[in-house]
Amino acid sequence: MKAPCYQCGEPAVLDGLCAECYDKEHPLIEVKTPLTLHACKKCGSVKIPGGWKKLTIAAADSDDLWPHQLDILLDIEVKPLVRGIELTIEEENRLDRVLHVILKVLGQSHEDLPPHEEQYDVEVRFSYGTCDTCGMKSGGYYEATLQIRADGRRVTDEEEDDIVRIVTEMTIAQYGSNDKAFVTKITSDKYGMNFQMGSDHLCRSIADVLESRYLAQRKQNYKLIGQDKGGKEKYRTTILIRLHRFGIGDFVKVLDKPCQVMAMGKNGLTYFDLAKRQRFTMNPRSSKWRTLEYLTSKDDRREFMITTRVYGQPIQLMDSETFEITEIDESLLDDAIEAGTTVYGLIIDEEFFLLPPE
Ligand SMILES: [Zn+2]
Ligand SMILES: [Zn+2]
Repeated sequence: MKAPCYQCGEPAVLDGLCAECYDKEHPLIEVKTPLTLHACKKCGSVKIPGGWKKLTIAAADSDDLWPHQLDILLDIEVKPLVRGIELTIEEENRLDRVLHVILKVLGQSHEDLPPHEEQYDVEVRFSYGTCDTCGMKSGGYYEATLQIRADGRRVTDEEEDDIVRIVTEMTIAQYGSNDKAFVTKITSDKYGMNFQMGSDHLCRSIADVLESRYLAQRKQNYKLIGQDKGGKEKYRTTILIRLHRFGIGDFVKVLDKPCQVMAMGKNGLTYFDLAKRQRFTMNPRSSKWRTLEYLTSKDDRREFMITTRVYGQPIQLMDSETFEITEIDESLLDDAIEAGTTVYGLIIDEEFFLLPPE
């Protein structure tokens, strides 16, 4: 026979208590009420011990921020007393800055007892301020400047778009873990682009990516701007990324041979040797790289139409602007390419070079 529960007289199952009385003595969670939710009025971040917790980008886009903010707050304020609980939040009522919710908790107060549900009424009071990130941003704070320039030309629109996209993506990626991951100011003029960034670390990591993507030159400068409260010297970094004169599609000389730039990236520069009619990739550390010279812009290529294609005879091409006829060796084009097709070529010192198909 089981001894009776010392609180209610029902048969006891654990520590002299029945299941119900045991559950009451051993709640699943601990939570205070009322709670205060300090949020940033600009970005919705929630103040937590030691700093501010940012909302994920998806949460920040939603109309109602409070469920996301409450998740952050409850993550800190709810102390689970057992393992493996399931928590659901139900909104009871909401008035401007006061919210009443019911927390429903499902779990086992002891592994020998069946799961049960507990309910907690919690009042949440909202208070608003400015988070560190928004404060620094609106104060124009920046640690580093990233400058983008191009050698002997303007930065093209494609390059600008590409660089802005990379800066945006990388800033968003660091935003959750770095309070200074923001861009204070972007300017663009005939010399190029300038990004003022809150974080020196962010600026360096973006420069790393751009440097390898464009095989660009990089220069770094530091300027003493003062001392912090502890008397430590504070520096501001400027990183200059200088793009090559050539871009993709432009013509260069490698080992004094005309080539077209096909691609640039981590693995190096991929180019098409117009005389050998072959693709090569070279690394900026290779000896060939030192022979690299700018030849001419991709705008200097010319459009031609194949006028005659007869087996065993040279192929005739007509310049689409001057209507001049050029003859090329029939082995230069695939058999499948017929008369009427448009091809591109480059003329250097009166010599015709057929360009690779686009
Ligand atoms: Zn009992
Ligand atoms: Zn904020």
